[in-house]
Amino acid sequence: MQKDRPREELSRLRSTLGNRLAELRRVLRVVFGRSALVKGNVYELARKCGKPNCICTRGELHRSMVLTWSEKGKSRLLSLPSERVAEVQKKSKEYLRFRRARARVTEIHRDLLALLDRIEHLRREEPLR
Ligand SMILES: [Zn+2]
Repeated sequence: MQKDRPREELSRLRSTLGNRLAELRRVLRVVFGRSALVKGNVYELARKCGKPNCICTRGELHRSMVLTWSEKGKSRLLSLPSERVAEVQKKSKEYLRFRRARARVTEIHRDLLALLDRIEHLRREEPLR
């Protein structure tokens, strides 16, 4: 009875290992993609321009679509012409998906190493003397 337990655990570990590998393959799909990635977030910015008699001083703020991202610790901003908003939005979403996948790969990687260590522990035998 006691002897069967490592075998049961090994079989469970192997099955978990297979699941993690399948998940890794799924997560990496976005990495195998070919579409362009744009780092940053697209959103609508509403602001005052600073001219003393402009309508924005009466609450009608100037609205424009911008892309913001950080570069070497600095926050950057770029105004987007309306004809490019949809395209940049799509690429920035893809970038986000890519980065999420990367974060998940880190976790899966950690899981895989823990699984491998446990499997090694269960399979290891003292050297024959
Ligand atoms: Zn204004």
